[in-house]
Parts: sequence; C-alpha cells; structure tokens
Amino acid sequence: MPRTVYVNGRYLPYAHAAVHVEDRGFQFADAVYEVAEVWRGRLVDEARHMARLERSLTELEIPPPMSQAALAHVMRETVRRNRVANGLVYLQVSRGEAPRDFPFPKDVAPTLVCIARSIDPAKIAARADGGIGVKTMPDIRWARCDIKTVMLLPACLAKEAARREDAGEAWFVDESGLVTEGASSNAWIVTRAGRLVTRPLGHDILPGVTRRTLVDLLGIEGLELDERAFSVAEALAAGEAFVTSASATVMPVVRIDGRPVGDGRPGPITLKLRLNFHHAAAISEP
Ligand code: PMP
Repeated sequence: MPRTVYVNGRYLPYAHAAVHVEDRGFQFADAVYEVAEVWRGRLVDEARHMARLERSLTELEIPPPMSQAALAHVMRETVRRNRVANGLVYLQVSRGEAPRDFPFPKDVAPTLVCIARSIDPAKIAARADGGIGVKTMPDIRWARCDIKTVMLLPACLAKEAARREDAGEAWFVDESGLVTEGASSNAWIVTRAGRLVTRPLGHDILPGVTRRTLVDLLGIEGLELDERAFSVAEALAAGEAFVTSASATVMPVVRIDGRPVGDGRPGPITLKLRLNFHHAAAISEP
C-alpha cells in the first residue's frame, strides 16, 4: 500500500490524497498517464516514458504540468518516500479542474498525481514460471489507442472477463480477426521458425516502451522481427507467445481461450528475452 502520494505540489498521506470532484480526469477521462518500472531501486526506460507522456499531452493539447526535470524529480521523490525497491511508479496528468463543460476550460492548471507502489518480484516470477492464459475479446476501444489516456473502461471490462476465466490478460481482436494488443500490454508471438511477430505501431495500439526496448534486445540477441499483425489462429499455431508491459516486462502466454500455445509451457525464446530484458533497457540512477 503506498503511503505517500504526490498531488499538485504536495506529498500527502495515502488516505488524504485526493483530487476535486470536478477534475476533468474524473468527469471526462480527460487525462493521460505513464507507468514505469522501478527495478532494484532504479527507474527503467525513464526517457522513453517521459517522451511518450509528452506526446500524449501534446496530442490532447494538455499543457505540461512542469518541466521534464521537475517531473523526474517528483517520480524519484515519490519512489524514495515510499521506499519502493521493485514496483511501479504512476504519473497521471489531467486537464485540471473546472465546472463541468465539454470544451477545454481556459487558464486552468493541469492536475498532476504521482503514486509509487511496491510489487513482490517473486510473485511476478512465479507467474512467469507458469505463464499466463489470455482471453480474446473484440476491440471496442476508440480510434486513438496510441495516446495513453486514462479512458480504460474497455480494458477493465476485458480484464474482468479474463479473470473470470482464470486468464491473466485479455487480447483485443480487430474486425479482421487480427490481434491488436493486450488490455494492458503489447502482444507477440514467436513463429515455429523462430521469428518474432508483433503488430506495427499505428493508432490502434499503444507504442509500448517495453515493446520498443524489446526491439533493441532482439537486435542484440540476433533475433528476426516481423512487424505485422497476426491472427488468433496464427498465435495458436505459433511456437510461443508473450506480452510486454512495464509491469511484467516479458510475460509468457501459454493458453489462448483455454487452448495451449506451443507445448503449453513458456517458450525458450520468451524466457531468454525475459531474463535479458534489463540488459537492453536504460536504467536511471535513483
Ligand atoms: N498496451 C496497453 C493498452 C497498455 O495499457 C500498456 C501498459 N502501459 C502497454 C500496451 C504496454 O506499454 P508499456 O510497455 O509502455 O508498459
């Protein structure tokens, strides 16, 4: 449980950390966010997360709440005050608080919240050892999934449906039967020939920071990448599958809608990429 939360310039006890009821994040999901991994007390791929946050803000014309250096300080301070060694740090920026009206308010300061929480690495490792199942769902999200907004209701519905079937993640599928991405991850397969496949960037998926860093790792490992969409049938016929996200790095997928992928166990290429992931990531000092 986080004990100290940063809200608009102050570090507050968790129980008292709050934003106004007329905050546009609450009223309209008019807000963006970032989630970065804290690994051994250090931030993973901070620059890429910051660049994506800046892009999300620019796309929605939300002014940056502060300079990137100041944001970096807030993240570090929140991690430090909560003594997070392994976990996640969340930054959330809304357009701010204003009487409820759809068009953008004038002269309103954005709301900034930063929360850091610990995650037991042994728990994630145990999940990765067995691999997770995914449940496929129609992709009912909007046409700008490349912007990291807090408008996460389709992801909540999909994750809940997955949970009810003992699946750890949901995979969204477009109208052509092609996988877009996970509810909170990017989706990958490894073909029987050992080639990595993941959907190309576009408005239909989030440009995952972990995805980007994994592309670098593939280069280091000498693995071939095809950036193209794949179908659920192709994933079921693949040798391996996995998802990538800051919260789970590389997580093996061993079942799709209850049917096994490969031999139904985490694949060797997936496990090697999981093991070596942080070699390719940029690790920032605390
Ligand atoms: N797609 C979606 C929809 C996500 O929510 C996430 C998690 N932030 C990702 C992909 C993975 O992105 P990242 O590797 O930057 O965590």
